[in-house]
Amino acid sequence: MNTLDKDIAGWGRYPVQRCELVRPERHSELWSEATSLLARGQGRSYGDAALNEGGRVVLTERINRFLAFDRDQGIVRAEAGLTLAELLAVTVPRGWFPLVTPGTKHVSLGGCVAADVHGKNHHHDGAFGRGVRELELITADGRRLRCSPQENAAAFHATLGGMGLTGIIGEVELQLQPIDSAWIRARHQGAANLEQLFELLQDSDEQARYSVAWVDLMSRGAALGRGVVMNGDHAGRDELSGGRRLTPLRLPPHKVRNIPIDMPGWLLNGLSIRAFNSRYFRSEGGRTAPFLVDYDTFFYPLDTLHNWNRLYGKRGFVQYQCVVPTAGALAAMQQIMQRLAASGHPAFLGVLKRMGAQGEGHLSFPMEGYTLAMDLPMKGAATLALLDAFDAVVLQHGGRVYLAKDARLAPESFRAMYPQFDAWQQVRHELDPQGVFSSSLSRRLRMGEAQ
Ligand SMILES: Cc1cc2nc3c(=O)[nH]c(=O)nc-3n(C[C@H](O)[C@H](O)[C@H](O)COP(=O)(O)OP(=O)(O)OC[C@H]3O[C@@H](n4cnc5c(N)ncnc54)[C@H](O)[C@@H]3O)c2cc1C
Repeated sequence: MNTLDKDIAGWGRYPVQRCELVRPERHSELWSEATSLLARGQGRSYGDAALNEGGRVVLTERINRFLAFDRDQGIVRAEAGLTLAELLAVTVPRGWFPLVTPGTKHVSLGGCVAADVHGKNHHHDGAFGRGVRELELITADGRRLRCSPQENAAAFHATLGGMGLTGIIGEVELQLQPIDSAWIRARHQGAANLEQLFELLQDSDEQARYSVAWVDLMSRGAALGRGVVMNGDHAGRDELSGGRRLTPLRLPPHKVRNIPIDMPGWLLNGLSIRAFNSRYFRSEGGRTAPFLVDYDTFFYPLDTLHNWNRLYGKRGFVQYQCVVPTAGALAAMQQIMQRLAASGHPAFLGVLKRMGAQGEGHLSFPMEGYTLAMDLPMKGAATLALLDAFDAVVLQHGGRVYLAKDARLAPESFRAMYPQFDAWQQVRHELDPQGVFSSSLSRRLRMGEAQ
């Protein structure tokens, strides 16, 4: 098979590393004598989870066939390189939607399993693994292992959230949820500060299937943490009118714009972000009456701007996402936002949401509490020091950082944040005793080493 040495990065474009790329057409071509291997889907993880510096990276984008679709039961089986966008295009017109979706549809099923991704409905429906009926895992010795909560359950739970380190996920079988329309009944509510935002999110638990809050990370003083809660539920066909009612499962056409080149790094600065946030807070916070929005706009607003990561310029950016158990969450998020404000570091796209109970994956990120995500332009040592300070707050409150977004966590912090690491490591060692599957993230976090 042809190989290509190339500098690649995650979605945040930090770090950039040289890897040996292969792009097989089918799983039978996968097997090789490579001593260090890692699967990569759409490269939508932000940091170094889908990088394997100096080792081989298997691009799965061509291993993306639909294998079966039971239209009565909503069960779909596909190769793991299939993207959610490709899945939605087939299943939505037939009235089926994924149980869980992240904030972009340009992710592979393999990436969704490996990060056990969560959506706006985690408080209701758990993480992606909840909808996975079965996986096929291709292990280091070339076996094809069927894994499910019933069969090879240990391998299943180590692979959910296992960041590609238990093997290559070859096939995924998913249970979908029925929908009557491609539309979401949404409503927004503005909150003057973080405390109010927490209260609104808590109320949303009972009121809405999907809920998430946008946070103005540039707000200060009494307005610290002001934001807008966005709730939504799948709309019934009888809620639609006119042409929409005639074709309720059809998505209206969308314009996708492109950022063609790297923007200058100074474009996103404190001033421009503050101006955008003020406008956004006023316009979106005031939309309190329910309105209909198509699922694409509701779930994937950033997908309308192709290559939006170029807005951060050549140095890229880091997304910091943490979750903190409910009891200390408000205090922790306040401390993080105060530290951010004191540092003067610009931060864009703050997102806060409630999470439900922890799932079955040993290294799955979600836990009952609140999760905060923010994008920070990469400014070298200053950014890294600020994020270390955030880690200290998160650790103090019993929380953790999301590996799918991470590019810089320290190994000691990782171990303290993921108490099921030992259980995971044991299963991983049984599946891959030589440690063939490896990534830049796993080596940085020393995930192959004993305690
Ligand atoms: C705009 C945007 C919004 C996002 N919103 C959310 C969100 O709301 N919730 C959330 O949880 N995440 C979110 N993410 C993160 C994203 O969902 C995850 O990082 C996901 O893993 C990306 O899938 P991918 O196919 O791009 O995987 P990659 O980034 O290519 O890989 C991610 C990990 O999966 C492993 N992997 C990929 N394919 C396989 C395979 N076939 N077998 C074994 N391992 C594999 C890789 O080795 C790597 O460790 C978002 C990302 C972006 C860019």
